[in-house]
Amino acid sequence: MRRVSIFGSTGSIGQNTVDLLQRQGGADVYDVVALTGAGNIKLLAEQARALRAEVAVTALPERLDDLRAALSGSGIAAAAGPEALCEAAARPCDWAMSAIVGAAGLEPGLIAARHGGVLALANKESLVCAGALVEETCAAHGTRLLPVDSEHSAIFQALQGENRAAVERILLTASGGPFRNLTREEMRYVTPKQAMAHPNWEMGARISIDSASMFNKALELIETHVLFDVDPEQIEVVVHPQSIIHSMVGFRDGSIMAQLGPSDMRGAIGYALNFPERAPLPVERLDFATISRLEFVAEDRARFPALRLAREVMAAGGLTGAVFNAAKETALDAFLEHRIGFLDMSDLVTDVLDALGAEAAATAAGYGLAEVMEFDAAARRIAMRRVNGMAATAEM
Ligand code: NAD
Ligand code: MG
Repeated sequence: MRRVSIFGSTGSIGQNTVDLLQRQGGADVYDVVALTGAGNIKLLAEQARALRAEVAVTALPERLDDLRAALSGSGIAAAAGPEALCEAAARPCDWAMSAIVGAAGLEPGLIAARHGGVLALANKESLVCAGALVEETCAAHGTRLLPVDSEHSAIFQALQGENRAAVERILLTASGGPFRNLTREEMRYVTPKQAMAHPNWEMGARISIDSASMFNKALELIETHVLFDVDPEQIEVVVHPQSIIHSMVGFRDGSIMAQLGPSDMRGAIGYALNFPERAPLPVERLDFATISRLEFVAEDRARFPALRLAREVMAAGGLTGAVFNAAKETALDAFLEHRIGFLDMSDLVTDVLDALGAEAAATAAGYGLAEVMEFDAAARRIAMRRVNGMAATAEM
């Protein structure tokens, strides 16, 4: 039986992954090793019981007793805290889903990358923070890295059977988010609640807000650069509000391969779960007569500075991505807590890059996790100082 683990099983990607495992035979077909979550103990325990997992882990040490109680009589081991997450990741498995949100997903993902099976990667932050390290770890252990982000799954699918040297450009599609048509002035006073309402995709709160600010597309630009080994100039962002085309690859003969599908992450998760096969998936079928036309708009770097910042990060290289991501995560927390405004997020990230970018860019290849986490921590410290300054100014 195929041994599978899901890191972040209680999240949006995690729940969709559990859903597919269950539809494909659940515990009768898969040997489920580890499931992990954070505060939603009830759901974590339900998933662990349904899939007869070996171990369930909450990231929150103070919730261990609750998890033990919820699992009593099941024979499933309970554990808690960041170290327990890493121990769970060290348990051998053939297929691991990395779906923790944020840089917190990096270390468990790196450990799971040592088993030589498949690392299904939803956690784009790990590629932004430490792309080379993730790729080196997979290569060193013969682990196959399969992208789960819908755009990157689309690009990966469009590249099957193709000669990589014939790739001319990658067309990364973006829905544009809920504020696609707002002016900068109109964006100034939007609330976290408005930013969370994504027009097409149902996702976790953090990635939904990142979609509204285009920081999600910024992370995805860097993710594309890492995964497909293309120069930044070869990657174009195309705003496609319908999210029907999930991304495209343009070849040197002028041909373009696109992957299309409904806005349902089970498409990309199911592809990574069944690769290289295609199994039947419970997603809606597209009806082109109803769709009638596909719409595209050019990207707007003036209204969405995150896209410009991503280009700067790619050009700088080294560990600039770790600084960028940590600053972005801190800015997002501050926005969620109503401490800074929507537009302050990109200003804050710009400031942190100004302060730490050059040093991070100078990091030579062959860096380790410790260096990544040092830049991550330093960027969060500077970002917090800036948040406190911005919040104080706003109160005056
Ligand atoms: P989510 O917020 O719905 O779920 C996050 C999961 O991580 C939960 O299981 C939560 O318990 C766990 N978690 C949160 N903080 C943690 C911590 N500090 N330590 C350990 N575990 C922690 O997020 P999501 O929308 O499912 O996104 C997960 C990842 O997948 C993100 O990297 C996101 O960018 C990526 N992604 C998501 C989607 C989507 O449709 N939701 C699409 C593409 C990529
Ligand atoms: Mg995406």
